Amino acid sequence: MRTYYIAGNWKMNPADDPLTLLRKVKAKCVGLNKIELMIAPPFTAINQAVLLFKETKMHIAGQNLFWELQGAYTGEISAPLLKSAGADTVIIGHSERRQYFGETDETVNKRLKTALKYGLTPVVCIGETLAEREKGVTLEVVGRQMTCGLYGIAEKELYTLIIAYEPVWAIGTGKVASPQDAQEVHEFIRRKLKELYSPVFADNLRILYGGSVKPDNARGLFEQVDIDGALIGGASLSADSFADIARTAEDIS
Ligand code: PEP
Repeated sequence: MRTYYIAGNWKMNPADDPLTLLRKVKAKCVGLNKIELMIAPPFTAINQAVLLFKETKMHIAGQNLFWELQGAYTGEISAPLLKSAGADTVIIGHSERRQYFGETDETVNKRLKTALKYGLTPVVCIGETLAEREKGVTLEVVGRQMTCGLYGIAEKELYTLIIAYEPVWAIGTGKVASPQDAQEVHEFIRRKLKELYSPVFADNLRILYGGSVKPDNARGLFEQVDIDGALIGGASLSADSFADIARTAEDIS
């Protein structure tokens, strides 16, 4: 049985005062205990979040990490620094990192290996662009991102891995993949995991959907057999929306 996982990626938000939003999320998410929750606030708010959610099961994540552990890498963040701030999870390979900051499948692989080595739960993002979907190469792209991203990593090292399927054309655009289209790709991802690893591993791994998830479309997505939760951008910036989506997952758990 896979537990639903509902994650909020705050990106470079809110504009200021993350503590107020953290407090609202905490108040709204009280009593959700059949699912797992995660928030990835900006790096500067990680420690505040960790302290605020100390007595709860909320996971706090970094939005990225660098594979080097220390040195002259202005603007980067290491796994030990994320851990020392109290994060237990990290998002890797988000499409905005790939689009704007030059991330590739190879750098995703390096970051993933580092996260695993330092005990951070990795949420690895994959997904096709609109041009790739229109060319009919979605599964090819997602398959390549998986093969390269997971290259050289053994099944026994990957037991914490979470994959987020996020079609790039659906992120922040208000265009959500239909539950059936999302399910088709999720089913492919699970099949690919079976090929790369084992059926047990593939059956236990959580695959989240991301791309304009909102309270009114969450149920249809979560009812699909291979969709195990959501990575939520825009709607996670409202405590009400985030909690409503989480409550939908709790209801069908
Ligand atoms: C995301 O940033 O991972 C995301 C899915 O954003 P949004 O929900 O705003 O589409």
